[in-house]
Amino acid sequence: MNPADYSSFRRKLIDWYVDRGRDLPWRRNHDPYQIWISEIMLQQTTVAAVIPYFERFLTQFPTVADLATAEESEILKLWEGLGYYSRARNIHRAAKVIVEQYSGVFPTELDALQSLPGIGRYTAGAIASFAFDQRAPIVEANTLRLYCRLIGYDGDPRSRDGQERLWRFAEDVLPQKGSGRLNQALMELGATVCSVREPDCESCPVHSYCQTFREGTQATIPQPKPKTVITETTEVSIGIRMGSKFLLRKRTSNERWAGLWDFVRFEIEHAASTFDSAFVVGSVLDRTGLSIIMGPQIAVFKHSVTRYRITLKCFTADRVKGRLKANEEWQWVQPADFNGYPLSVTARQFAEQLKQQLVNDHETPKAGKTKKRSLEH
Ligand code: SF4
Repeated sequence: MNPADYSSFRRKLIDWYVDRGRDLPWRRNHDPYQIWISEIMLQQTTVAAVIPYFERFLTQFPTVADLATAEESEILKLWEGLGYYSRARNIHRAAKVIVEQYSGVFPTELDALQSLPGIGRYTAGAIASFAFDQRAPIVEANTLRLYCRLIGYDGDPRSRDGQERLWRFAEDVLPQKGSGRLNQALMELGATVCSVREPDCESCPVHSYCQTFREGTQATIPQPKPKTVITETTEVSIGIRMGSKFLLRKRTSNERWAGLWDFVRFEIEHAASTFDSAFVVGSVLDRTGLSIIMGPQIAVFKHSVTRYRITLKCFTADRVKGRLKANEEWQWVQPADFNGYPLSVTARQFAEQLKQQLVNDHETPKAGKTKKRSLEH
């Protein structure tokens, strides 16, 4: 795009944004704390999914000081289902830094923002421009695609050259004042009009400035990411019962979903045609110190984590003997208390199945007993 056109480009884009921009909860003020939380939540997650999480989060932790003094498990509980839990742990660490090193006041400088845990160049630019109207550029997934198309960049946008070109354009196009609003308008256009597959170029307010539109190359720009090779795996999750309680384990810092609680869970041979119960019993003994008798499989879930497509087989089991190993955090938990623990999505689904099974067991009259009596257990 010709730099001489920047000013009319900005005017057209802002007029469109004032008219068509979505009313989103985090756009209603310039509070850096709210902008920060929303930007972290929006990483890898859709606007529709984020809104209820954002509102619950702000209700429970209205200020950075409230967040800094919270328990990590409270934050993870609120984050449950959003995924990428390192984001939640990082905002907790960053909140502590803001309180301890900046007396609870958000830093305004890009360098200071970027030094906080979990805040990269994009998020720092978003906070600095949206909250403090600094002339800070932004490049994230939607603007990356938009900028590539506006300037007709057909190289790899993730390469060094691509990144330099896009960040330079992102900065050059900003005005001296009103950068926050322009950045929001650029993101909005990328998210709602300049979409991945079928950009709505006819209704795009800046199509007369867009090189890709002029050349009809929207289908090939930007260059797509190389395809991820998917690996199929199988895991088991074992709801080990002792009396009326089930065993939960806190996931450690070097595992995925660190800090969340889960049933005993591990990988088994994916391609095995028969289920190797002896292997599972032996693995449980190695991991927990408990001897168990396997019960039935009560659920199977399929889900994806990064490049893994996981089939998760969920079993119940009874503890026979043994002592829990001391090097891990364990809890024996009544099903009614599962809600008090932050669980991964599949662990929550398994927990719900166990609760339901308990209800079913109570509702099934045993020989010689009435339904009412069985419910009195
Ligand atoms: S004209 Fe089309 S390709 Fe160009 S910015 Fe607008 S929506 Fe994107």
